[in-house]
Amino acid sequence: MARRPQTRVLHAAGHRADGAPSSPPIDTSSVHISSGSGDGTRHAYTRLGNPTWEALEKALGALEDASALAFASGQAATMALVHALCAERKRLVTPGDGYYGARKLLGELTSFGIEFEPVDLADRGAVRAALTAAPAVLWAETPTNPFLRVHDLEALAALARETESPLVVDNTTATAALQCPLDHGATATLTSLTKSSSGHSDVILGAVATRDAALLERLGTWRAAGGGIPGAFEAWIAHRGLLTLPLRIERQSANAHALATHLAQHARVRAVHYPGFDPATAELARRQMPRGGGPLLSFELDGDAAAAERVVRAAELFMPATSFGGVESSWERRARWASESAPANLIRMSVGIEDLADLTADLDAALAAR
Ligand SMILES: *Cc1c(COP(=O)(O)O)cnc(C)c1O
Repeated sequence: MARRPQTRVLHAAGHRADGAPSSPPIDTSSVHISSGSGDGTRHAYTRLGNPTWEALEKALGALEDASALAFASGQAATMALVHALCAERKRLVTPGDGYYGARKLLGELTSFGIEFEPVDLADRGAVRAALTAAPAVLWAETPTNPFLRVHDLEALAALARETESPLVVDNTTATAALQCPLDHGATATLTSLTKSSSGHSDVILGAVATRDAALLERLGTWRAAGGGIPGAFEAWIAHRGLLTLPLRIERQSANAHALATHLAQHARVRAVHYPGFDPATAELARRQMPRGGGPLLSFELDGDAAAAERVVRAAELFMPATSFGGVESSWERRARWASESAPANLIRMSVGIEDLADLTADLDAALAAR
């Protein structure tokens, strides 16, 4: 019987030999002994390859039933993907509400001949039109952030196939533990391991997973040539975190769902955004993310920016901070970032693994702040 991802990720190294370490050592050597042209040259100079990243990559690959490459950050992984996929296709069709960092990078790349067209991924006619205008790459993200919109991966993959466009899915928010875009027809997934996948807010790292051997090869070339490689220690930390991802995200999803439900009934809350809450995509969310909606949610306070700031500062457990996916809960008023188009009263929260009753009490006390 094929084993489940949460089992495979723990046993990816598959060590059985006497004397083998049960957990991967941190190999910080920049060079490994090599004298010829054989297999020893793979780690000869470790911008080309390192045993500690490879242990992480095996575990990442085990989660997605694919091959994975780790990068210095999610952005370095995006950079390599754009280079690997856009040699012949100069056009990226991207989500209008996609990750800001990706939009920023693509904006910088336009002076190198790359063009990108933001579309509403829920509008299939618009996606098809954008993909047929010229050879393109479809870049998708679901759930999006901070509105936690759920997009239909099967439908997007069908459009990508129809127009012979590679489909990349930014899977950072859900992670491979909750959603497997490669099973729905994606060419590659991009994950910022900085967030839930490593899960302890102590490392910046990224990864790409794919079942396409030619793409994997090109990505490896861009990583080695561009130099966006992970550090050995970072890879080790991310690997250690990844082993408990399925457990953590299950608890975070349960806590987040309960808090989202609580907020939806709260007198000071005007709207709550969480996967499965929008009736138009509730059934899709259940089908596409059957194990949970993830740690992120957002809500709109009945009040202005200053009121939302007071609520954020009043909490004792919810840490005022950006980013998401850590074991500890955090939140922020999103519009404090100039690049963010969210309403001034929107608070995004990342729900951790604390006791739910403690989180609920902290949230209620913070919402009472005037
Ligand atoms: C954080 C993030 C990234 C970029 O990852 P870094 O590790 O910060 O470079 C990409 N996509 C999404 C959705 C993210 O949240």
